[in-house]
Amino acid sequence: MADGRIELAKARILVTNDDGVGSPGIKLLEEIARDLSPDVWVVAPEQEQSASSHSLTTRRPLRMSELAERRYAVDGTPTDCVMLAIKHLLREHRPDLVLSGVNGGGNVGEDLTYSGTVAAAMEATLLDIPAIALSQHFIDGEAIPWDTAARFAPEVIRRLTRLPWPEHTLMNINFPAAAPDDVRGIAVTSQGKRAIASNLSERLDPRGRPYYWIGPVREDGFAEPGTDLAAIQEQQVSVTPIYLNLTNIPVLASLKKVFG
Ligand code: MN
Repeated sequence: MADGRIELAKARILVTNDDGVGSPGIKLLEEIARDLSPDVWVVAPEQEQSASSHSLTTRRPLRMSELAERRYAVDGTPTDCVMLAIKHLLREHRPDLVLSGVNGGGNVGEDLTYSGTVAAAMEATLLDIPAIALSQHFIDGEAIPWDTAARFAPEVIRRLTRLPWPEHTLMNINFPAAAPDDVRGIAVTSQGKRAIASNLSERLDPRGRPYYWIGPVREDGFAEPGTDLAAIQEQQVSVTPIYLNLTNIPVLASLKKVFG
């Protein structure tokens, strides 16, 4: 639409993720997208790319394979997928909206700097296409409550796309680890911050040489009110606008005095 809003029923939607094209979360997101619009394309990594961040593959060629009509796998990162989709596959008719996820696991606080799910939305944002990252929290050892994302994602996407889309901004959505009926509403939040644990395993390989394996780095503790972390602790759906200009504006003036 001329005022910057997205008309979902006519929108071309690109669906991607970082868990891989065969993951349950992207199948769910594809279904959600198809209920919103008939023009849905999936371009996603062949293999899981969680914690790949905004990585772009430049030192080897990329292959894209057509799995079905409007469904492609790329042997690269989420960022590669979005770039290939927008700059090559769909270049004649760019998507109006990019949806990334639904990730199996949360993306809150400092997760955003590691997340491939969020990075795919970043890439779309850099290419001036509105983008939403969606992640479903779960409790370790328990099944992922996909029903919760299924229940709330369509409404959140509809409400977000009714707004004129803000510049340089992606929307980061997290669904809490709770059954749909136990969710306590939708909260608009800011990005929180946790301590990062040093969960490193040192082991020996079959030849007796040490190797290292980075484990879960989350350390859940007190969550600042109003943050994505607090909303998830309160079993709320969290909606965070993420701005892609990384400049710390309040520091500019004081820094100018120092170097003035
Ligand atoms: Mn993932």
